[in-house]
Amino acid sequence: MRRKLIAGNWKMNGLLADGVSLASQVAELAKPRSHDCDLLICPPFTLLIEALRAVAGTPVAVGGQDCHAKLSGAHTGDVSPQMLTDLGCRYVILGHSERRADHGETDAEVKAKAEAALAANLTPIVCVGETESERDSGKTLEVVGRQLKGSLPEGGTAEKVVIAYEPVWAIGTGRTPTLDEVEEVHAMIRRESGLGAGVRILYGGSMKPSNAKELLALPDVDGGLIGGASLKAADFWAIASACP
Ligand code: PEP
Repeated sequence: MRRKLIAGNWKMNGLLADGVSLASQVAELAKPRSHDCDLLICPPFTLLIEALRAVAGTPVAVGGQDCHAKLSGAHTGDVSPQMLTDLGCRYVILGHSERRADHGETDAEVKAKAEAALAANLTPIVCVGETESERDSGKTLEVVGRQLKGSLPEGGTAEKVVIAYEPVWAIGTGRTPTLDEVEEVHAMIRRESGLGAGVRILYGGSMKPSNAKELLALPDVDGGLIGGASLKAADFWAIASACP
């Protein structure tokens, strides 16, 4: 039985007061209730410590949005996976399409980062997904399969690695693939990941309270990676509450 994971990707949003307030609101919502899913927030680096303080003692975990492929060293401006673990983070998002686009991250770099994350005892959430033109030309399964093979860490296991399928054209656009299209890609990822049937595969791309229930009910969707809707505690909570 795969336990669902609802993960919030705050991206480059939130000054100190906003971040503390959002993390505290999520913690308040999560504290008194019983959960059918794991909960995770991934604030920007600057908010990690305060977010960890705000959710301490609640079931909400905290993760980073990226890390370096080395555990320490001369890499000005970077943050190592060990630094994230040291703070108390348990997860790190890697290979998000915005990092692939903005920073030219390749599959090989994502793989190296994911291996470093595992070495630092962090669970990498490895993101894959096709662009709109790749989908329109019928290449979705080929592209996602190739990213998967190139980006997943050696030595990963179903318990220690999470995969997120995020069609690039669905991120922040309000558009989503059909349920059949989502299930087709997730089922392929489960077959091809080499991590076994137990690996958790999140869907990301315009997931919101109004569509979460149907997406989370798909057999191979094991949770969500939520961008925009994770910036409002009530929406994030509504999505978590839609877990079957
Ligand atoms: C994301 O960037 O990971 C994401 C899924 O964004 P949104 O939910 O805003 O589409």
